[in-house]
Amino acid sequence: MVDLVVVGSIALDSVKTPFGDVKDVLGGAATYSSVAASIFCKPGIVGVVGADFPREHIDFLKKRNIVTEGLEISEGKTFRWGGYYEYDMNQAHTTNTELNVLSTFKPKVPKSYLGTKYLFLANIDPVLQLDVLSQFKKTKFVALDTMNFWISTKKKELMDVVAKVNLLLINDAEARQLMGTTNLVKAARGLLKCGPDAVIIKKGEHGALLFTDGICFSAPGYPLEDVKDPTGAGDSFAGGLMGYLASTDDTSVQNMKKGVVYGSAIASYDTEDFSLNKLKKITRADVNDRYKAFERLVEF
Ligand code: AMP
Repeated sequence: MVDLVVVGSIALDSVKTPFGDVKDVLGGAATYSSVAASIFCKPGIVGVVGADFPREHIDFLKKRNIVTEGLEISEGKTFRWGGYYEYDMNQAHTTNTELNVLSTFKPKVPKSYLGTKYLFLANIDPVLQLDVLSQFKKTKFVALDTMNFWISTKKKELMDVVAKVNLLLINDAEARQLMGTTNLVKAARGLLKCGPDAVIIKKGEHGALLFTDGICFSAPGYPLEDVKDPTGAGDSFAGGLMGYLASTDDTSVQNMKKGVVYGSAIASYDTEDFSLNKLKKITRADVNDRYKAFERLVEF
């Protein structure tokens, strides 16, 4: 039995930032988010990789107590994403998106996952997100993330999924793009009208805003001196939040606020190194330390 099911991309990323570059390293939305969630609970992954995916990455996921029964190894090449960041590291610039095995993926949720109450539809084709969601008869809390690529190419399908989830996570530029407004409060209000009970707008190094039940909660970004690569910060944030909610089985607004701060703590660690290099090293104690640092940061 798993506590949280995560579907999303599993990737080999090539990334360049002002502090270095890496080629074909472990990445993908499901990878970052399930590793972040594993700090709090036992996630089960649904995704696909190609025959070229290094075995050591699967061994690493298993070592992190992540169930890989829903991970398919298919003929062909793994999904690849290439991008770069300039000195303003809030903005990722995509250089290439090669869907490869993702373009023919037919997700099959293992029977052992189907009673799970918490589901995270991490960034992947919204058609696949909908397909996975439809395989669950009963869930307690479903969260959804996406990105500009899908807003531009599959907006209708994306809005069909948005209508069916409890929580939508989206970054500031994507919220503006999706709602056609420059104002984030208006964008959040508009998104809430599309179906979800709550919307979180991620603002990179400037933190995150949670909108629900007539309230707006703001969590700051952690002021870090050494940011090397922000890739996966959004996914680590979401995975940390969902892992925390699943481990406490409490989706009250008060607990969501705590989850937002835990997610922010893990996302801040993620940015300190390339790929999952930093996430591989941190423990629950490190996350608790940074959670306390967040409390000190906003106390006055
Ligand atoms: P973020 O948390 O937004 O920085 O997400 C970064 C991850 O998103 C990278 O590891 C990529 O492999 C993955 N990614 C990039 N483009 C896509 C896409 N179109 N669909 C799914 N995942 C993607």
